[in-house]
Amino acid sequence: MDRTLAADLARLPELLEATRRAAADALATLDTRPVLAADGAAPHSPAPLPEPLPEDGSGADAALAAFRDRWEPRLSASAGPRYLGFVTGGATPAALAGDWLTAAHDQNSNSALDGAGQDLERETVGWLRELFGLSDAQTGTFVSGATMSNTTGLAIAREWLGERLGVSPGEDGAAVLGPVRVLSGAPHSSIAKALSVLGLGRSSLVPVPTLPGREAVDPAALDRALADSPGPAVVVANAGTVNTVDFDDLRAVAALKERHDFWLHTDAAFGAFAALSPEHAHLTAGLDAADSLCVDLHKWLNVPYDSAVQFTRRQDLQARVFQNSAAYLGPLGSHPDLVHLTPENSHRLRALAAWFTLRAYGRRGHREIVERDIACARALGAELAGDPAFRLLAPVRLNVVCFTLADDPAPARLAALREAAAAEVFVTPTVLAGTPALRAAFSNWRTTHEDVRRAAQALRTAAREIA
Ligand SMILES: *Cc1c(COP(=O)(O)O)cnc(C)c1O
Repeated sequence: MDRTLAADLARLPELLEATRRAAADALATLDTRPVLAADGAAPHSPAPLPEPLPEDGSGADAALAAFRDRWEPRLSASAGPRYLGFVTGGATPAALAGDWLTAAHDQNSNSALDGAGQDLERETVGWLRELFGLSDAQTGTFVSGATMSNTTGLAIAREWLGERLGVSPGEDGAAVLGPVRVLSGAPHSSIAKALSVLGLGRSSLVPVPTLPGREAVDPAALDRALADSPGPAVVVANAGTVNTVDFDDLRAVAALKERHDFWLHTDAAFGAFAALSPEHAHLTAGLDAADSLCVDLHKWLNVPYDSAVQFTRRQDLQARVFQNSAAYLGPLGSHPDLVHLTPENSHRLRALAAWFTLRAYGRRGHREIVERDIACARALGAELAGDPAFRLLAPVRLNVVCFTLADDPAPARLAALREAAAAEVFVTPTVLAGTPALRAAFSNWRTTHEDVRRAAQALRTAAREIA
């Protein structure tokens, strides 16, 4: 064994202890260090020049010191309470513990040949099914994020189209389907990416009109678009759009199945968590009707990156797409090993972090996070609506505030505003119905009303500075 490696092995407990201290330090300063410095880097550290690959290593202690010196100061406080960009949860204490142990055990939980990893994943999927009020008809698998969940769901949709037409795209390629129509009101950008990956093409996405002033699909327009469809189609329903957290009427969309032949894929990446709040659960009515369903976990469940779940009612079709036959792997059977269900073959025991946080805090604990984040979004929305410098572009339906400058919301001015506020609060740019805007998304378990007060103050000060 390499001498340095052997020395690290001999000191493994001490190394883990030093790493634990470094992690604790990083978490202890989450609230006080800049969320993001104005130039996107920490104030005292210019971009480090790439170093050459070390010929001889100097051990884990030295690697830890180099990381803390060169890279750690340049990382954002995205695990913290005032990083409101994109939709970015943090990691609950239990989720973090689960993630550490995932790496420590380093399981490849993709088949029954190897320990109970995939049983743990199945237990966790069962808990998630209950959390979102889904029926037992939905089976689920863990994937790396909502983009991969959408890609997997649409891959199953592709195989379903083949089934309807008496062909198999999995065997013979997507071309056997001929032109495909994927209908959606306000799909997330990852849907187009998934269609590109799957060989259906970005141009297979057919936009369907949304309701006036909304991002929710107009069910009557969808009805007409389906009537115009020459053959079976795919509908992507959106349960929580990123700009205004609008929800398609999932029950009305599903009811169209009585008249039209289509696969229903629902993207509920973070919107599914509305089911945890009795006041908002009605938004998710009809979630279970999906043939395939995407839910992100590294957002509002607050597990570390990267984690999402993919539910479907047609595991048989899923296995047709993703089966991986090899002499040393288990047969497909009625409970296929995970290796036959997801794009990757090997995968980490990704479910463990989700298992930990659900085991530790239960439905009630996660409901409290969701409801507090919603209350915080409302409070920020009220602060900004009451300030003449700002204008809300949509009501705060759930956990996102979509707003802009009341006076000349040019992209350059919004960028200046974001930068001026970025040490205190990080928000991300968008465009809503042609208007450049900013989004503040609440999904972190740490965020409190004190953070809302600080965020509002920082945005106000920044608006004055750039005026
Ligand atoms: C975040 C998001 C995605 C993509 O999720 P990743 O985890 O970044 O892959 C897809 N759809 C919606 C609605 C999202 O909010």
